[in-house]
Amino acid sequence: MPEGLRAIVGPMFSGKTTELLRVLRKYAIAGYRVILVKPSTDTRYSVQKVVSHDGLEMEALVVEPSYAGISRVADLLLEHDVIGIDEFQFFEHSRELSRFLLELSERRLVIVAALNLDFRGEPWEIVKEILPYADDIRVLRAVCTYTDERGRKCGRPATRTQRLLDGRPAPYESPRVMVGGRESYEARCKRHHVVPKAPR
Ligand code: ADP
Ligand code: MG
Repeated sequence: MPEGLRAIVGPMFSGKTTELLRVLRKYAIAGYRVILVKPSTDTRYSVQKVVSHDGLEMEALVVEPSYAGISRVADLLLEHDVIGIDEFQFFEHSRELSRFLLELSERRLVIVAALNLDFRGEPWEIVKEILPYADDIRVLRAVCTYTDERGRKCGRPATRTQRLLDGRPAPYESPRVMVGGRESYEARCKRHHVVPKAPR
């Protein structure tokens, strides 16, 4: 039986959801019972499906992103061999939740896909909490889409997520969670990741 904890991390557009769906499909084809979970905050496309930026789709169980939300569906999770969780960064920072998932990963294969950093370039606490326990961590990178005044594109590997408000870098003080797609986020390398701080 598959077991253990795997993590897939990187910025937006790095292929985390695509990779998660690929691995889940592989196990489904091999005859394992597979379930995909996602937090109820992500309403970008639809409430019961996970859709990658490439358009790959899979039905998902939408849960309240907390220990309570996960424990409510614990019995259902245990009926599956492989449990994928997308957008894991949106789950509350809770020792109980990470402990629950670690225990689950002793009997099942648990795969979490998450942003490691927020738009400010700071880590998400729940991701920090669970990453050291992962048996396997895949770090994915996108392509930096920064374009200078002369129209030259950067093209370096992107490890950061740039938030844009009306086409300009969002300030540090803007809210941490703001669900959006290509209109409000870009993949950037460290050099082109800009987070203006308000003057004091
Ligand atoms: P994530 O879940 O990490 O946000 P997805 O798996 O949903 O990523 O989508 C990854 C896809 O996003 C890529 O395969 C590509 O088609 C598309 N994409 C859009 N912008 C970029 C970019 N700047 N660099 C790489 N891929 C990008
Ligand atoms: Mg995704």
